[in-house]
Amino acid sequence: MTEQLGRLGVLGWPVAHSRSPAIQNAALAAAGLHGWRYQLLPVSPELFGEVVPALAGAGFVGANVTIPHKEAALALAGEANPRARAIGAANTLTFGPHGQIAADNTDAPALIAALPFPISARTAMVLGAGGSARAAVWALLDAGAAEVRLWNRTAHRAHTLADELGATPVDRPGPADLLVNCTAVGLDGSDPFDRLPLTPADLADYGCVADLVYTVTGTVLVDRARAQGVPAVDGLELLIGQGALSFEIFTGITASLEAMRAAATPAEPSG
Ligand code: NAP
Repeated sequence: MTEQLGRLGVLGWPVAHSRSPAIQNAALAAAGLHGWRYQLLPVSPELFGEVVPALAGAGFVGANVTIPHKEAALALAGEANPRARAIGAANTLTFGPHGQIAADNTDAPALIAALPFPISARTAMVLGAGGSARAAVWALLDAGAAEVRLWNRTAHRAHTLADELGATPVDRPGPADLLVNCTAVGLDGSDPFDRLPLTPADLADYGCVADLVYTVTGTVLVDRARAQGVPAVDGLELLIGQGALSFEIFTGITASLEAMRAAATPAEPSG
C-alpha cells in the first residue's frame, strides 16, 4: 500500500514566529498521517499572487494564511465559504487537483467555541480594528451577541468597521460580558496597560477576557485577568482552535487537541 502524502503550510510575512508548524505537525503525527508535512511558507505580499497558485503543483493540499495575506487570500480564491466572504478575509486555503483554490475563515468559529459561555444575548467589548477584530466582531454578532462595542487606537478605523458590521464604536472600553483583545498589544511581552485605555482593575468589569495575542509564555493581559479570578481565553488556545478546524478541512480527520496543546509551547528545559 502506498502511503498518502500531503503538504501543508502557513503563508505569512514575516512568519518565522508562528507556532502553527509545531501544532499542525503534532496533529498530523497523532492522526497517523506520517507522509504529511506542515511548514512555514514565508511569502512577501509582492509574490503572494504568483506563489499561491503554484502550491498545488508542488504537492500542497492546503495552507493557513496569516498577516498580512488574509484579504489577498480571499481575493485569490475561486470559491469561498460564506463566513469568509462576510468577514472579508480567509485564514484557510485548500487546493484542488485542477488548480481550484477554496477559502474559509476558521478564526471566527474558533473564538465562539473557546468562550466559557454562549455569547448569545450577551455584550462584548472588542479592542482593535484590524483583520482579527473584523473576524471577532462578525463572529460575535453572528453568534447572537446583544451588542458588540468596538474601540481602536485609531478611532476612525473603529467607526468604519463598526458601521460595516453593525457594531457600536466607543471612545473608551467599558464593562461588558466579554472583553476581546484584537490589537497587537502584548505581542512583545510588554505591559498592555501602558498602551490600552484599561487598568488591571478594569478587568473585573468583564465576565471573560479573551486575548488573541499569543506568546509561548502567555500574555500579561491573560495573567492579570486570571489573577483577579476572571476567566480568560489565551491566544494559544485560539490558535489551536482555528488550527484544529483548518486541519479538519485539510485532511477530513478530527484533530487531536491534546497533541496540539502539548506541542504549542516548547518543552520545559529538564534538569
Ligand atoms: P492588524 O490587522 O495588523 O491590526 C492590528 C491592530 O492592533 C490595529 O487595531 C492597531 O490599531 C492595533 N495596535 C497595534 N499597535 C498598537 C498599540 N501600540 N496600541 C494600540 N493599538 C495598537 O493585526 P490582526 O491581524 O488584527 O492581529 C492582531 C493580533 O492578533 C496579532 O498579534 C496577531 O498575531 C493576533 N492573532 C492571533 C490569532 C490566534 O489564532 N491566536 C489569530 C489572528 C490574529 P491601529 O488601527 O490604531 O493601528
